[in-house]
Amino acid sequence: MPNAWSVAAGIINPVTGRWMTKSWNIDTLLPEATRTYSEIENTFKVQVYYRLPVRRYCQNDEDIKRCGRRQRNPRYANVLGGYADAGAGPDAILDTHGSFEILLAGYVDLPLLIQTLHKHFQQTGTWIDQRFDHAQLKADGNHWHYGAMSASRVIFCEGTAIKENPWFNKLPLTPAKGETLILRSETLHLPPSIYHSTKWLLPYQPQRFRIGATYDEADLDPAPTEAGKAELLQAATQILSEDHHLKVEAHMAGLRPSTSDARPLLGEHPISKGLFVLNGLGSKGASVGPEMSRQLFEHIFNNEALDPEVDIQRFESLA
Ligand SMILES: Cc1cc2nc3c(=O)[nH]c(=O)nc-3n(C[C@H](O)[C@H](O)[C@H](O)COP(=O)(O)OP(=O)(O)OC[C@H]3O[C@@H](n4cnc5c(N)ncnc54)[C@H](O)[C@@H]3O)c2cc1C
Repeated sequence: MPNAWSVAAGIINPVTGRWMTKSWNIDTLLPEATRTYSEIENTFKVQVYYRLPVRRYCQNDEDIKRCGRRQRNPRYANVLGGYADAGAGPDAILDTHGSFEILLAGYVDLPLLIQTLHKHFQQTGTWIDQRFDHAQLKADGNHWHYGAMSASRVIFCEGTAIKENPWFNKLPLTPAKGETLILRSETLHLPPSIYHSTKWLLPYQPQRFRIGATYDEADLDPAPTEAGKAELLQAATQILSEDHHLKVEAHMAGLRPSTSDARPLLGEHPISKGLFVLNGLGSKGASVGPEMSRQLFEHIFNNEALDPEVDIQRFESLA
């Protein structure tokens, strides 16, 4: 994953920050994500998953009304906290229309998660750190051969590089670039929470804050841009109630592997048997990835049917 960390929130679109209905399948996805990260934490004695509510700031009167409607809807009872009047939150955040809490949220320390798993796979001799060349993958009976390796199944988890995959490149992936910043400030102090006011702001480490993210479907160069940095810095000044000196310590960019129907891509190639794909995690890999991995595992090893909503059989383009 290209991003340093990731939010697993309930009812805010982490990309646009706009109100939306409760996230697709979140009541199934979050328990599996929580279970997976806990298991990794227990196995490797690290902390990678931080449960933190999101404090979402209303931008106008319509937002306040929408919040009230959601609070009266029992479907939202497990994800929505109470409304707090303007000024009830930390002074450092500009609060003109009040705020409310989104429960069942958190963030994943992706760098630590990836480092931990890399180390484990290196130690167990199951990790080869090199570019995969699709042209070298050859079928032979029920097996696929790649150099000296042979396997009955190959699972491609390539993100937006799927466009270079000759078997799966017809799947409708619609990448969306995003940028984030790590900021340092000696004067900004915020209690632990994820603050969301058009963009999210996360107190991250002592004197450090993360802000994100931009959204761009036109520029598909994964490099960070000056325009992205300027947009995020401007958002930071708009979120905060006072001026703070904000030093940019890191500027990251990546491509979200989004799909045309906003559902993941899971399953076996209809013709080239033994080749599988796990992709299309969009802007929610941290919450969606664990359940998709579980489903694909159960499908392959225990013959469990895939959820038709994520099964690539919904597209005829591969047959
Ligand atoms: C700015 C931004 C903010 C985001 N915020 C959130 C968020 O708040 N919450 C959330 O859940 N998600 C968020 N996401 C989305 C999240 O990052 C993705 O959903 C997730 O990274 C998808 O994971 P993936 O493993 O499928 O693909 P990727 O993370 O793209 O990983 C694919 C990997 O495959 C490798 N690869 C590809 N081709 C080859 C090859 N030929 N040989 C060897 N290696 C190869 C790539 O190098 C890469 O490491 C955000 C994304 C961006 C860009």
